Amino acid sequence: IKGLVLITGTTSGVGLNTLKPLLKFGWEVIAVNRSNKRAVEIAQQSLTDSQIKNIHFIEIDLSDLDDVRNGCSEILKKFKKPINSIICNAAVYKPRLRKPERSPQGFENSMAVNHFGHFLLINLLLDNILSSEKEIDLNGRTIKFKPRITVLGTVTANYSELGGRIPIPAPADLGNLSGFKNGFLSPISMANGKKFKPGKAYKDSKLCNMVTVQELSKKYPKERIIFNSLYPGCVADTKLFRDTPWLFRFLFPIFQKFITKGYVSQRLAGERVAQVATLKEYAKPAVHWSWGNRQKLGRKAFSQKLSKRIIDSNISRQTYELTRKLVGLA
Ligand code: NDP
Repeated sequence: IKGLVLITGTTSGVGLNTLKPLLKFGWEVIAVNRSNKRAVEIAQQSLTDSQIKNIHFIEIDLSDLDDVRNGCSEILKKFKKPINSIICNAAVYKPRLRKPERSPQGFENSMAVNHFGHFLLINLLLDNILSSEKEIDLNGRTIKFKPRITVLGTVTANYSELGGRIPIPAPADLGNLSGFKNGFLSPISMANGKKFKPGKAYKDSKLCNMVTVQELSKKYPKERIIFNSLYPGCVADTKLFRDTPWLFRFLFPIFQKFITKGYVSQRLAGERVAQVATLKEYAKPAVHWSWGNRQKLGRKAFSQKLSKRIIDSNISRQTYELTRKLVGLA
């Protein structure tokens, strides 16, 4: 039986660049995107036909919880073998919105896509992935692989790092979660119930992604499944920045390459994600993997210290339980 990895958002950037190393390592891939047609066309531009044969394309718009439910039932019906590893990669970042965009369920959209969609997907596929521990075949080698869930986090959501304290428009902070507690529907748009700040909404959603990893790690024993997150480095030229001003898009990669030295190519970022999601040395529970904020050739990944806003058990439990309610699991 060949091993199976599911990844969201493979039409560009980090997700697209994770496909090649996964396929090279010998995995079969479920690529989850909001348009199969686009996802196939884009994959065809960078992969060979024999590589594409090992990708199954599934259509899910992560902003829509009904679509996540339908897509997950399709996955559970279609694949006779369980998934071994899930990578939550897709995201939206819209720092210039004046007012919040709303998901089909009425939630602020970046929280809906980045956190709610992935949270529901993980929960709906959890029994399936938990049942996957068995010997699998990778490029002719038989290995034992413990189920793994990897979530893309970011430096700007981690108050313990300088990049997480930048006050433009504000650091990530879920506050007392009153926005979630009060149903997170219009006019509420922020987890803390305060005024809409689009850049902060993205950071908060990534904070929730990282909190989810910490909370799931407490709920499920590390002997059965590994949850971790990572910051692949600043991949300053992906389409994530498509809604920033053109001058920012021009200057940001230059600034990251030559001033902060935090720049990482899309290819290297993709390789890092594929490694964290599949290699044995990254199978450590609740670790947030990072290669640091100044890139150095050959540097090994390390466990990045996380802020209290992410690891505080009261916040993570509350965020988890409130999210369960908001996505309709409780
Ligand atoms: P991109 O914008 O290049 O890729 C985002 C992917 O998410 C695309 O495939 C996009 O598909 C998909 N997506 C967006 N909305 C939805 C939706 N509603 N349903 C399903 N898929 C959707 O961004 P990056 O590659 O830069 O980002 C990938 C991940 O890496 C994100 O989680 C991001 O937070 C994280 N990250 C990125 C960093 C960076 O510097 N770029 C740094 C740290 C973390 P579509 O083509 O349909 O829009």
